[in-house]
Amino acid sequence: MVTCRLGDTGAVVAEVRSKLARLELGAPGDTFDPPTDRAVRAFQQQRGLRVDGVVGSLTYRALDEAHWRLGDRLLTEVIGHPFVGDDVVALQHRLHDLGFDPGRIDGIFGASTSAALREFQRGVGLPTDGAAGPGTLAALQRLSRTVTGGSPTARREEERLRSAGPSLRGRVVMVDPGHGGSDPGATGHGLTEAEVALDLARRVEGRLGVLGVRTYLTHGGDGVSDDASRARIANDVGADLLISLHVDTAATPVAGGVATAYYGAQVRGRLISSTLGERLAWLVQSEIVARTDLVDCRCHAKAWELLRLTRMPAVRVDVGYLSHPQDAARLRSPAFRDTVAEALSAAVQRLYLPDLDVPTGQLFVGAAAG
Ligand SMILES: [Zn+2]
Repeated sequence: MVTCRLGDTGAVVAEVRSKLARLELGAPGDTFDPPTDRAVRAFQQQRGLRVDGVVGSLTYRALDEAHWRLGDRLLTEVIGHPFVGDDVVALQHRLHDLGFDPGRIDGIFGASTSAALREFQRGVGLPTDGAAGPGTLAALQRLSRTVTGGSPTARREEERLRSAGPSLRGRVVMVDPGHGGSDPGATGHGLTEAEVALDLARRVEGRLGVLGVRTYLTHGGDGVSDDASRARIANDVGADLLISLHVDTAATPVAGGVATAYYGAQVRGRLISSTLGERLAWLVQSEIVARTDLVDCRCHAKAWELLRLTRMPAVRVDVGYLSHPQDAARLRSPAFRDTVAEALSAAVQRLYLPDLDVPTGQLFVGAAAG
């Protein structure tokens, strides 16, 4: 039986501290010092255990179960020796929120959790193996956002996407070149953000036009005073999507890469986000990453005004850093700009034609005009 307490040192203490660190209750180390004692007590308090600062078998087991995050391991029903942990709790919560019955939310992967998971898998057309693998977790995540993240806006967006059917013709896309007019945005290596963004926007406009998408720019180089006004322009024309184009800059030449933002905000501890905005952001990001050698700085939920005030799914993509020598060299090249424009156009196609069976990075303009 494991026991350790204030003043102890060694491998067991190191293990305890690393588990606490994963729970953001302290830092790794191998001494059971006073901060570790406080962390153990805080943990015991949280978990409803006896608060004595001693890591006995109960506290140790609770620590072990608590450090699992959903996706860390493949959860499935093992008769007689069930998976136990906080990842199971998270899974049970998600199933429950989606209207399935995983049994008591107790962190133990038993028969009812397994049955609920299979029912969910059957419902979304996944193989019903009762295992919470990557595909199942991704589907759970997506649906949890839609249903529990729960904004009526998200459901309206989904509804609108479905009701129009898989077609590009007649869609209205607002492309927003960042900055402009008296505001050049970022500058570096002889380039200005406003100039790059406008040129990219025109290239996107050309490509989407070919596909039958009605495409507007928020401005033609003279800029728009602020993001709220840009959002209003998109709302006023009733755009189906907004793509805002920027390039980034940083104090250090080392920072580089592409990142995409969609609307999302923490509201009372819960992430409220635009489901379609997130999907579009993910498509934009993966198409650009697949077609270029820009570093993948991933997608992020942001509550920026442009994203918050637009009534349609909106993303802002920062394509490279002007302060980064290689990124700037890429952005100077017309061929590179074409590639980015093609990636953005492919992302729009994929959003509206979700059944396209073409690997990311391989869809070309004209290939699937609906
Ligand atoms: Zn900018």
